[in-house]
Amino acid sequence: MSVLVLGGAGYIGSHAVDRLIAKGYDVAVVDNLVTGHRAAVNPQARFYEGDVRDQDFLNDVFDKEDVDGVIHFAAFSIVPESMKKPLKYFDNNTAGMVSLLEVMNQHDVKKIVFSSTAATYGEPKQIPIKETDPQVPTNPYGESKLMMEKIMHWADQAYGIKFVALRYFNVAGAKPDGSIGEDHHPETHLVPIILQVAAGERDELSIFGDDYPTKDGTNVRDYVHVVDLADAHILALEYLKAGHDSDAFNLGSSTGFSNKEMLEAARKVTGKPIPAKMAPRRAGDPSTLIAASDKARKVLNWQPQFDNVEDIIATAWNWKEKHPAGYDDRNGATK
Ligand code: NAD
Ligand code: UDP
Repeated sequence: MSVLVLGGAGYIGSHAVDRLIAKGYDVAVVDNLVTGHRAAVNPQARFYEGDVRDQDFLNDVFDKEDVDGVIHFAAFSIVPESMKKPLKYFDNNTAGMVSLLEVMNQHDVKKIVFSSTAATYGEPKQIPIKETDPQVPTNPYGESKLMMEKIMHWADQAYGIKFVALRYFNVAGAKPDGSIGEDHHPETHLVPIILQVAAGERDELSIFGDDYPTKDGTNVRDYVHVVDLADAHILALEYLKAGHDSDAFNLGSSTGFSNKEMLEAARKVTGKPIPAKMAPRRAGDPSTLIAASDKARKVLNWQPQFDNVEDIIATAWNWKEKHPAGYDDRNGATK
């Protein structure tokens, strides 16, 4: 029986595939390589290049693979882009989920672990954010993911497809040996952009907004290490295998760091000056996002290993120093 990982060539998906294989699972990956990298996929996983929205292609994969459970990372996830091109997000993300559930139902596959996001909460009413708090997204990306959660809810009611929605807060870091890591084109996330400045690839960091109601005026976010996050997916899959009902869990550290604090932490880790300037607010950014993540710890027995941002940044810096060109340095890399 195999675990099918959709979006397994992406940043988080490739770390999940790597952890699944390390723990002895049989893994197959589907990815259309629109933002992912073939070279990021552990060679012990079987790889199928194609689009989640292509039901003929997906049916073929499910015919070939004896799929026990699905982990679904395949989506677009750039907030500012989603503000300008909302339909691109509803098409790829939301319609992709409909296609996937249709094929899962046809093949009697009844377990799915899903990449959801703190962006489904929007501007929170209280901090830390609990799983039961209102979900009112402030951007189309978050809306597309909330719709995916709702679609899974109704597919559970109708077909008995059980799901775990994992609502990630801010994911950062890389596998500690530096063999895989984050390589997005264009890069929009704070930590890799700070490290691009540290490496001399960009002149300076622009900090988006310093007039938010936070400790130093810059946005506050909750950072979780990508390997800890990957492990939570395996726990969620086992939770479903044990016969538990569908549920949603926040994944974060329950601690908030401002954008300025992240910059200072990166200066300390890298020993580089990392020039920065203040810039206007970025559309769609909530002021503060911090997770209440005790539910995942209690119910899934999730025990994150990385509990401070300097350690998280250090693993991302290690990947960056070993692979300044990202995956372009790999023989046989297709992207
Ligand atoms: P990523 O872009 O690196 O990975 C997404 C992968 O899915 C890529 O390999 C891409 O090629 C593939 N893909 C996209 N659309 C596809 C389609 N229609 N068919 C087949 N493959 C497709 O992104 P990531 O940072 O690894 O994020 C993975 C998931 O986690 C996303 O669903 C995102 O919404 C969610 N998430 C990420 C963060 C974060 O901080 N990175 C935070 C919260 C949630
Ligand atoms: N950010 C920034 N400059 C950048 C990239 C990001 O100031 O070049 C800020 C962004 O406005 C947000 C925080 O860093 O406040 C985290 O953004 P990211 O895109 O990494 O994750 P998000 O919180 O949007 O999921």
